[in-house]
Amino acid sequence: MENIKTQISQVKNTDTKTKIAVAYGDGIGPEIMKATLSILEAAGANIEPEVIEVGEKVYLSGNSAGIEKESWDIINKNKIILKAPITTPQGKGYKSLNVTLRKSLGLFANVRPVNALHPYVHTHFPAMDVVVIRENEEDLYAGIEHQQTQDVVQCLKLITRPGCEKIIRYAFEYAKCYGRKKVTCMVKDNIMKLTDGLFHTVFKEVAAEYPSIQSESQIIDIGSARLAAHPEKYDVIVTSNLYGDIISDIAAEIAGSVGMAGSANVGKNVAMFEAIHGSAPDIAGKAIANPSGLLNAAIMMLVHIGKVAVANKIKNAWLTTIEQGYHTADIYIEGQSIAKLSTGEFAKKVIENLGKQPIQLTPSTLHENAGSITIPTYQRPQQKQVLVGTDVFINWQGNNPEEIGQALADLASYKLTLKMITNRGVKVYPNGLPETYCTDHWRCRFVASDTVSNEGKSVYAPVDFEQILALLANINAIGYEIIKTENLYEFDGKRGFSLGQGE
Ligand code: NAD
Repeated sequence: MENIKTQISQVKNTDTKTKIAVAYGDGIGPEIMKATLSILEAAGANIEPEVIEVGEKVYLSGNSAGIEKESWDIINKNKIILKAPITTPQGKGYKSLNVTLRKSLGLFANVRPVNALHPYVHTHFPAMDVVVIRENEEDLYAGIEHQQTQDVVQCLKLITRPGCEKIIRYAFEYAKCYGRKKVTCMVKDNIMKLTDGLFHTVFKEVAAEYPSIQSESQIIDIGSARLAAHPEKYDVIVTSNLYGDIISDIAAEIAGSVGMAGSANVGKNVAMFEAIHGSAPDIAGKAIANPSGLLNAAIMMLVHIGKVAVANKIKNAWLTTIEQGYHTADIYIEGQSIAKLSTGEFAKKVIENLGKQPIQLTPSTLHENAGSITIPTYQRPQQKQVLVGTDVFINWQGNNPEEIGQALADLASYKLTLKMITNRGVKVYPNGLPETYCTDHWRCRFVASDTVSNEGKSVYAPVDFEQILALLANINAIGYEIIKTENLYEFDGKRGFSLGQGE
């Protein structure tokens, strides 16, 4: 079985020069990139930056993707990207470059470590040390949206078994690699039983393979509330795309400054490292931006390419600088910090401190294998998939469910009969409640007229796709507008669709 090796090379000494694609970005991007690269060079990281043009300038030149072909070539050649934040111009038609890069390059794991640096950086949570591992490619961010009727727009939430297995295994392997003790899964499977239910099921399956790492699951709403109130209770959190986007911002915000945290976007062959913050146009050009977020991203990059010793050296010099009280404006505390430094002065202080260890803050002692995370390639199990019906979605401007219900129930259709109609998921036919508000979007569920018995239980009978085609032709013939269909399947005898509320 071929494995997914997320670390692209095992460079065990700093003598090997590694080429990386570097994007200077927009706003404060060039300032913090210059500072970061100066520290990497002084530390002997031995990287060779190849500059790629991405961002505002490229967008405004008429390229709606924000990235030129030459930049793709450099990325494909080097496989590692260090990227400063970019500005997406306001207005329609500009695609998010981050989403484009993540999806095109298969960067499935977004890793955001956030920890408190108490008492040197102000935070209410001195013991906080959390890593959020967010699925980066699917969920509601698949970007599949449609307006289906005058009243209704839809966004498809796609959760896949390979996607869940990849990210959840990555989270446990990360915990193993970095000596973390616990992985918490956050989902909303009390409501979304199939999509979030799958994420939770896979989490339980994978967790069982790592008995030495504690595992727990929380519903996302109470989970994020607890994260905001007691972040010290969390270690590694793994979650899907949207929830991960939200909770990683919560985590960064409560740790002290948005300018401090770095992040990695990791895929099979390519990885991209960046600060979690944006291009901060409000302070651009003032030389006051904190380069720490991008520097921490660069440290993650060095670990990823196997240059762990130099990563530890830079991290310890940075921790020493913070501990000595040399701070940029965003974390400066009057009466406590020693000096308020510019971006460049801060970088110089870090360079001066190369080779030093922090005294109060915990020094970085990442070992050689940190970063070498390998996960098995997904193997699709063979399941028996049986078609048992279809949901037909109809655009209808009427407001009496009995009227459309009767018309569809009376439809002479070979083998398929109407089981129920829902409106926004709530059953309105048969026996709906008059209080239920109905839009112009009607989901009409058709299943086989006959049921079959399986060990005494009545289950759905199989149907042929031709029967569904015939049904659709009949519905169309009596004047109803079909906007889409969704087939109903059983997988190895298990229902693969949700019941309507009240069904
Ligand atoms: P932002 O993160 O740029 O700024 C939020 C606040 O934090 C601002 O007050 C800013 O001054 C401050 N801040 C951010 N980074 C800082 C640093 N390193 N040092 C000191 N202070 C810092 O968020 P925003 O204002 O919502 O977005 C600005 C632009 O950045 C937008 O165009 C947005 O699309 C883009 N953006 C890009 C990325 C990326 O490229 N990865 C991520 C987020 C936002």
